[in-house]
Amino acid sequence: MTTYLACMGTRPEIIKMAPIYKNLQARGENVQVLHTGQHEDVAQALYTFFDMDPDYQIQLKRRLPGLSDLTAELLQGIDRVITEVKPDVVLVQGDTASAFVGAMASYYRDVPVAHIEAGLRTGQHDPFPEEKNRELIGRLAHWHFPPTAQAADNLRREGVPAQQIHEVGNTVIDAALWVKSQMDQHGAPDALPPEVQSFLRSHGASRLVLVTAHRRENWGRPIQLIASAVGILLKLHPDLTVVWPLHPNPSVRADIQSVFSTLDAASQQRLCLTDPLEYPALISLLARCHFCLTDSGGIQEEASAFHCPVLITRDSTERQELVDAGGAILVGTDPHRIVEQASALLNNPWAYRAMQVHESPFGDGHSAQRIADVLTCARNTH
Ligand code: UDP
Repeated sequence: MTTYLACMGTRPEIIKMAPIYKNLQARGENVQVLHTGQHEDVAQALYTFFDMDPDYQIQLKRRLPGLSDLTAELLQGIDRVITEVKPDVVLVQGDTASAFVGAMASYYRDVPVAHIEAGLRTGQHDPFPEEKNRELIGRLAHWHFPPTAQAADNLRREGVPAQQIHEVGNTVIDAALWVKSQMDQHGAPDALPPEVQSFLRSHGASRLVLVTAHRRENWGRPIQLIASAVGILLKLHPDLTVVWPLHPNPSVRADIQSVFSTLDAASQQRLCLTDPLEYPALISLLARCHFCLTDSGGIQEEASAFHCPVLITRDSTERQELVDAGGAILVGTDPHRIVEQASALLNNPWAYRAMQVHESPFGDGHSAQRIADVLTCARNTH
């Protein structure tokens, strides 16, 4: 039996690692879960939801706010766990500090690393520091699991040997389709919080838009511009309702709320500002919304699985595949551009249908199975 150490610490990592954890476990493999503590507020609910309780947990002291301090704490913490577990393989996902430091700690202990969602690149400074984290994991990993052909090309261009690259799709689609099927089969009690449920009930026939904004590069003025675009859209389109799960950071919330404080009462009634949603609640909204306006990478991917158009409030994306397929548009944070593109989706059924991709470019729901096939086959022939 092979021992895997799945190292993760943030919401998207937990969501995208869960399908692999389940698949390897079902094959009788020993998968140990390490939670690095990077996102504390939302992590436990996700581990419970996926029945994937951490075997190891790092208690980050976070006495100092800098990235170097976080990196140093993570490196020592992850190293201690690797020394104790002695895994045959370490799994890391994406581009966070937990993923980068997990790969580095494994490299120092000579444990091979499998990088899930490898090869994403904007080719620019932003997202900082994630863009460099991804590149650096690409230098350290043994198995590279890019979700798409573009991501695989990026790795080849950087000199990763072809036999170490396995294009498998993105496990985010496995997770989203699984959650949706659970809801459909079991008529799941609505995962949405009561205030969102009653908001949606009172606006039954309206068209729903999901808005999220969390990227650091959008904090401050850009997020206020996004909020003012949402305000204009509510005024222009009386059949529009908006649900916006707010980032927990108090100053981000204050920036958004200050923009909406001047909104007229009729528009305010059709706006629901709420706390971050639990994952099944977010999926349930995505599956029913008209389109979404977001800077989130994971939501872009999930939306494509539900044929939901996406307006991306960024200037570049490492998920260009959905833009190329016509399912997403980069609108940045200029209110005029956001209002123009959103209004086209609301006013023009043809433009709307053209943005409903029928097949997600990010996966078909079987990515975890492909990853587990590669890993178990490699370990069995070792
Ligand atoms: N998500 C969630 N609740 C929310 C907002 C997002 O569960 O209120 C989920 C979403 O479904 C997706 C993931 O969080 O799977 C995306 O994480 P985030 O936007 O924080 O990071 P990114 O994907 O941009 O790295």
